[in-house]
Amino acid sequence: MSKAFREPKACINGCGATIYFDPNYPTGHPNPDKWIPLEIKEGRRTDHPHNCPKKKEGNGANNTLLETTAAPKSESIKLAETLCQILHEYVRLKSQEVAAGVSK
Ligand SMILES: [Zn+2]
Repeated sequence: MSKAFREPKACINGCGATIYFDPNYPTGHPNPDKWIPLEIKEGRRTDHPHNCPKKKEGNGANNTLLETTAAPKSESIKLAETLCQILHEYVRLKSQEVAAGVSK
């Protein structure tokens, strides 16, 4: 952990706020892969997550986490979707059978 990483810095979204990261504070560092920018107000560390007004064109302003781009669908997901469609079709045909009053 470099010291520079923990130094206060301007918000990357350019909202004018000063943020910092604190590896010892669970809110700012809930797990090893996640860093939530915390806010500095009047030169003091507030321990509050930075709720950036410039984040994502104004929507989802309460979430300052960086979003990962959606990964392309894996083969297993495609297979699952196909199975789902088959099952859906099966249910549709079965309910048609019932509706038609198939008797024996
Ligand atoms: Zn900001």
